[in-house]
Amino acid sequence: MASSDIFTLGLGLTPPWRMIDQRLETDKQPNELHLAVAAEPGARFPCPPCGRLCKPHDWKELSWRHLNFFQHACIVSARVPRADCPDHDVLRINVPWARPDSGFTPLFEQVALLLMREMPVSAAARIIGVTDQRLWRILQFYVRQTVERFDLRHVDNASSIAANISTAAFSGVSVRRLRHVRNSAAPAAIIAGVISISRVSGARLLMRSSLLL
Ligand SMILES: [Zn+2]
Repeated sequence: MASSDIFTLGLGLTPPWRMIDQRLETDKQPNELHLAVAAEPGARFPCPPCGRLCKPHDWKELSWRHLNFFQHACIVSARVPRADCPDHDVLRINVPWARPDSGFTPLFEQVALLLMREMPVSAAARIIGVTDQRLWRILQFYVRQTVERFDLRHVDNASSIAANISTAAFSGVSVRRLRHVRNSAAPAAIIAGVISISRVSGARLLMRSSLLL
């Protein structure tokens, strides 16, 4: 099996995407492995809302941090098009190796979440080699995704609920128990409260991965 096939499998690339280049930059410390991905010429791309295959409207060079390859930082890059859909206008397409608007692959995010569960975000950032702000954005996305699964229409005491969710996160108790609290705050305020409490306390955010993923 060629090395490009191994990287293709590792990233979960599917047509029209393919690996076109890999190079190790040894002039940087730590060294960086760069994987270049490209679409087949003439390919059409699914519009994000409806899935209709559309012509590319324009392209933008983007990059994502992936799991380290041995001791080397691994960075995936690709020119990603915006699809020109007759029903939804021009929208950036989704790539199979990362969620929308993330600068990381899911495998990288999973490792980051596991580390953040076990230590302060700043410590996880030092180990992974990215800024803690970027890790907070990953955490915020998955906390928001988790909280939005719950019925919070009748919540009216954000600080109380935030404290309760935070307590549940720290103790490992399922947040689902909070479904029955009768109050009416926006989920965003609750998430902000959870993250704020975690930051102020300086403690670990022990949200279980089963709640986050
Ligand atoms: Zn569409």
